[in-house]
Amino acid sequence: MKQFDVIIIGGGHAGTEAAAAAARMGVRTALITLRKDTIGVMSCNPAIGGLGKGHLVREIDALDGLMGRAADQAGIQFRLLNRSKGPAVQGPRVQADRRLYRRSIQQMLSEESCLEIIEAEVVGLTVANGCISGVKLSDGAEISCAAVVLTAGTFLNGVIHVGHHNLPGGRLGDMPSVLLADQMRDLGLVKGRLKTGTPPRLDGKTIDWSVIELQHGDEEAYMMSFLNRKPFARQVACGITHTNVETHNIVRKNLQSSAMYGGAIEGVGPRYCPSIEDKVVRFADKSSHQIFLEPEGLDDNTIYPNGLSTSLPADVQEAYVRSIRGLESVSILQPGYAIEYDYFDPQSLTAGLEVKSLSGLFMAGQINGTTGYEEAAAQGLAAGINAANKSLGRPGVFFSRTSSYLGVMIDDLITRGVTEPYRMFTSRAEYRLSIRADNADQRLTEVGYAISCVSTARYQLFLEKIDKMQFVTKLLKSATYSAQDLASVGIKVSHDGKRKDALSVLAFPDVRLDQIVALLPAFGDVDKAIQKQVGNDSLYSQYLDRQQKEILILTKEENKIIPADFEYIGLPGLSAELAIKLDRIKPTSLAHAAKIEGITPAGLTIILVHLQKRRREVAA
Ligand code: FAD
Repeated sequence: MKQFDVIIIGGGHAGTEAAAAAARMGVRTALITLRKDTIGVMSCNPAIGGLGKGHLVREIDALDGLMGRAADQAGIQFRLLNRSKGPAVQGPRVQADRRLYRRSIQQMLSEESCLEIIEAEVVGLTVANGCISGVKLSDGAEISCAAVVLTAGTFLNGVIHVGHHNLPGGRLGDMPSVLLADQMRDLGLVKGRLKTGTPPRLDGKTIDWSVIELQHGDEEAYMMSFLNRKPFARQVACGITHTNVETHNIVRKNLQSSAMYGGAIEGVGPRYCPSIEDKVVRFADKSSHQIFLEPEGLDDNTIYPNGLSTSLPADVQEAYVRSIRGLESVSILQPGYAIEYDYFDPQSLTAGLEVKSLSGLFMAGQINGTTGYEEAAAQGLAAGINAANKSLGRPGVFFSRTSSYLGVMIDDLITRGVTEPYRMFTSRAEYRLSIRADNADQRLTEVGYAISCVSTARYQLFLEKIDKMQFVTKLLKSATYSAQDLASVGIKVSHDGKRKDALSVLAFPDVRLDQIVALLPAFGDVDKAIQKQVGNDSLYSQYLDRQQKEILILTKEENKIIPADFEYIGLPGLSAELAIKLDRIKPTSLAHAAKIEGITPAGLTIILVHLQKRRREVAA
């Protein structure tokens, strides 16, 4: 019988990160997947990152994972979302060439000497003395191991829906995993059904680009990996068009034939990634929605119309797509579809993503109720690290929500569970001022090196960067300026007679790096990336004290009672969706409210402020 330390089931985004992490940590690892050629495939949109998701990718990269490097290799358009806002809520995003992305992931995996890739279907898990002992394959073979990471994605009992037609499938073109799903049921885990959808793919040659607005990437690309400075591939533009009243009428008229609305699907879908059917129903007052026309690759004419995900029949898809400006004569290469699949309640997992009731079994990715490549990859990385440590007899590695989005996500999943596909947002992180995309390496690379998950070469580069940052910080602290000096370069401060050092001046919100260079020319000799990083760190240092105070107040107040007649609907600053949820659940205290899925620290603070106001009014 073949033997490994760790077996990973599944070669999606979770599985590849889990396999690479375990192999980097030096344990004998097998990645077993249904089709070798689909390793690294992007099932849905050809893009990596975005708000909150970009943070996860930078954290994966800080721990030497694959996703950031592959996204940079494949990137054909780089954009920093929320550029006009502060770095804490900016989200790096990359439009990726599907083929280049897949090639890059497969190449990096092939370089891992401790990793073997096996093309097979896992049909069962073997258990000995209450611990996982290996897996069974469909050809009857058994492979033994000390730990398994299950990352079967949307494949467990997957059913694909296009209108009233449905067929078994893990995603279009792939069979579902039914035998394994059956055995999982026998493990006594709490199972649910979720769904997600994808838009039709369009033939770019049949789009009238002359009437389509073009959106270019950023002039200065914000790279996903800390190791890269500029894009590798040719850069291209995306298109922007809009749905219109006619599009919505066609969709509305055919709602009964949509799998999502015609009652064929019981699973819950991602609220934040609504289908066109959802948009037309939920936002009935809107007469238009923006659609991004995203190229799927440099040598590929396929266009991904982001915003048109659907489970309507193919002929209806053609009709509504052709009602959109620029798409009047478009050919559909592959219809959109919805997929419904099994997931398991993540509340059955430990903070190391190990199943509490079965030692040695770890689960990561869509199977835990999340949606998105980045969420899957980040969990895969955490599960891979913990499975490797398990096989080595070492303690688990837990990520805290105070120091990473990875920690926020795992904590949310295992303590609150999911009622809809979980997606990362910056608003989920109460410590978002200190856990930014730009400082992921400062938060995690040291940790990763200590557990052998980060290579020595990367760690050396990281140490060099930290040395440079410390040198620059000292330089800035040592140079002080009067209000007059500062005014000479256009920086206005109060004339309080106190000299200010350059580091604190850099922390003023509107101060530019070139103004500091004008004051202190030696700062101009410093690498731009280091200048920016020291600037970001100083900008946020002042807010961090305030954040700590807010957290203290919330902790002190969390047992305060919320009256049953407290009005959530219309509370300024609270989203309508959250207000409806709170109104329905009527939490009895702030601590109770904090446990409700979807509630954010910002939401809690809003409730607290209004509770205090109400108390003052009652007392007056
Ligand atoms: P997957 O990428 O699904 O990988 C699962 C892997 O497990 C595959 O390699 C498969 O071969 C393997 N496998 C399964 N069973 C077995 C077995 N028994 N033996 C061996 N190998 C097995 N995300 C978004 O963020 N936004 C979207 O709009 C969106 N839409 C989507 C639409 C569709 C139709 C699909 C299919 C997915 C969509 N996603 C979307 C989700 C995104 O693709 C996933 O979140 C992500 O790919 C999950 O990664 P994963 O590693 O958990 O699983």
